[in-house]
Amino acid sequence: EIRIVDLNKSFGETHVLKDINLEIKPGETFSIIGPSGTGKSVLLKHIVKLEKPDSGTIYIDGHDIFEPKEKNTPREYRYSMVFQTSALFNSLSVGENVGLWLREKRVCTEARIRRIIGEKLRLVGLEGKENMMTSELSGGMKKRVAIARSLAMNPDLILYDEPTAELDPITSDELARVIMSLKKEVNLTTVIVSHDLNFAFHLSDRVAMINEGRIIEVGTPSEIRKSDNPAIKKFLYTTT
Ligand code: ATP
Ligand code: MG
Repeated sequence: EIRIVDLNKSFGETHVLKDINLEIKPGETFSIIGPSGTGKSVLLKHIVKLEKPDSGTIYIDGHDIFEPKEKNTPREYRYSMVFQTSALFNSLSVGENVGLWLREKRVCTEARIRRIIGEKLRLVGLEGKENMMTSELSGGMKKRVAIARSLAMNPDLILYDEPTAELDPITSDELARVIMSLKKEVNLTTVIVSHDLNFAFHLSDRVAMINEGRIIEVGTPSEIRKSDNPAIKKFLYTTT
């Protein structure tokens, strides 16, 4: 469980995140939506410790992630972020991209690494595509390879920043199906930042709407759709 408590962040004079409080339950698919420049990506970066709050903090399973690790903590909580650009290595094959982390860590035998790569590619609907070159892939396939690579480390939490940004509607639907199918096969908490309301509403258990650095509403997709909040109405009306 992720618990964000009274989190504030400024860059210089700009107060980007204002008193953010949020709870994300284990196994939940949770989306953060809102206009451009309102702090969605900055919030995501705090959860993976790429940014540090000015005040407030984040607890994951009761541990303050910004405090030094205590000794004898149980297995480390693993998270993995799928970046907007996919950030794959074009000079490597699909399988090499997915296996990068495992080979770097040297945690298991080569035969086992190959099995894991095959299994993760199957989960994203790219079974048997190990030897394709990354440069030959469509945008949607690249995204799925990036997801498979994230899954290779068996994360507890997977985060997506604008997963459908460069995808057409059909490819976005496919991606939504992949993300939903992962939920059935892997025990995973999913956090998505997206402009794409149809996408976010379609696959999320709950959604938080952020506006000008504040969370203005949290609820199920149907609750958000029915909201009377003028900022939400404006956002829903102007982007869908
Ligand atoms: P978009 O939907 O366009 O991706 P966003 O909601 O993700 O927007 P953020 O990227 O979180 O917006 O940025 C929120 C604000 O914080 C912006 O004004 C941005 O310029 C500022 N910002 C983000 N990162 C930094 C940084 N490292 N240094 C200074 N300002 C930053
Ligand atoms: Mg962003």
